[in-house]
Amino acid sequence: MTRYWFNIPLWKRILLALVLGVLVGVLLGEDVQSIKWIGDLFIRAIKMLVVPLIFFSLVSGITSVGDIGKLGAVGGRAMALFMATALFSVSMGMILSTLVQPGQGLEISLSGADIPPPPEHTITEMIVQLVPDNPVMAMAQGSILPVIIFAMLFGISILAVGEEGTPLARAMNAGSAVMQKMTIFVMELAPFGVFALIAWVAGSFGFDALIPLGKLVALNYVGCGIILLVVYPLIIRFIARLPVIDFYRGVIDAQAVAFSTASSNAALPVTLRCVERNLGVSKSIASFTVALGATINMNGTAMYLGVIALFGAQAYGIDLSWYSYVLIALTATLGSIGAAGVPGSGLVMMGLVLSSIGVPLETIAFVAGINHLLDMMRTMTNVTGDAAVAVAVGRMAGEIDVVEYRSDDDV
Ligand code: ASP
Repeated sequence: MTRYWFNIPLWKRILLALVLGVLVGVLLGEDVQSIKWIGDLFIRAIKMLVVPLIFFSLVSGITSVGDIGKLGAVGGRAMALFMATALFSVSMGMILSTLVQPGQGLEISLSGADIPPPPEHTITEMIVQLVPDNPVMAMAQGSILPVIIFAMLFGISILAVGEEGTPLARAMNAGSAVMQKMTIFVMELAPFGVFALIAWVAGSFGFDALIPLGKLVALNYVGCGIILLVVYPLIIRFIARLPVIDFYRGVIDAQAVAFSTASSNAALPVTLRCVERNLGVSKSIASFTVALGATINMNGTAMYLGVIALFGAQAYGIDLSWYSYVLIALTATLGSIGAAGVPGSGLVMMGLVLSSIGVPLETIAFVAGINHLLDMMRTMTNVTGDAAVAVAVGRMAGEIDVVEYRSDDDV
């Protein structure tokens, strides 16, 4: 029995858990609450990996790129793709929202909503806080962007030191290998965790909750669908020049974890493993691009911010000038970069976008009730984007094992 279970590839076990979870959740309704702890356990186990994994992966990714010039080229390409896809995603969100007008004729009701506070910081404060005044505290608090900044400087400094830094570079590599092994162990919990989380979502939302907000939910799913089925395939086909189907087969584990946990950070260990093991991207490019992407590359979130900004304006009957559209594009892109890879952070970033165009923040309350359903889909989109950019950058740098990429022998 145990042998039979472990012989099934992990992604199939996770997919099965997903389907069974929905069925059990719909059948049991609220009663399914009692198994949510299994999902929580899984999320905690996977969160435990995040800070050390990001730190070791980024540092070892940077040191194994080898020289600072090459690092600049790899980083530059990754950033260019991150930015281009984010801007495209917000614009598409705005176009969809203009076409469908989900906010038209709605009476916004605030009762019973769970209003997250607007962001506490201005943009300049957010920039200042990117630099940790104490890296250990940033790690302890799980503030990922400052940890990334510290890890990048640490890696670059090891490279700059040269010969003397080699033992440390090797230690960082070992740390990264160990964290990846730990990920493999933790991932054995995934089918159970995913089952419990999905059952809980299906049980507590039910279908009734969806009907009044159906247009908004559908719009977000369609938007993410376009990014997943058009934008990423274009990147894979025309920039990476590789078959799209193999990409999706290789990345499915990460998608399942992203969808069920609604957290790019939680999915990060699995994404990294998929990109390296299934898609054949070299360790250095995978570690660097995926660890960075999990925090700053969030196309699903960018698209969602665009959709909701216009939704709010429509619901409140506010006419937007072209300048407001530009502001939405900018703030939503910034918001998607600034959003942490945790559930619900996109919703908090909405404060930044709405306040920049003068739409009441109460819009957030309206969306809060369905946020989790949207979050699952946009997180899956975010994570898939990290993998797509890693494949494209890996291909441009000639650091992808095409045989591995094409093989259907996925872990
Ligand atoms: N939950 C998303 C993520 O982790 C961020 C968001 O809320 O949009 O990627």
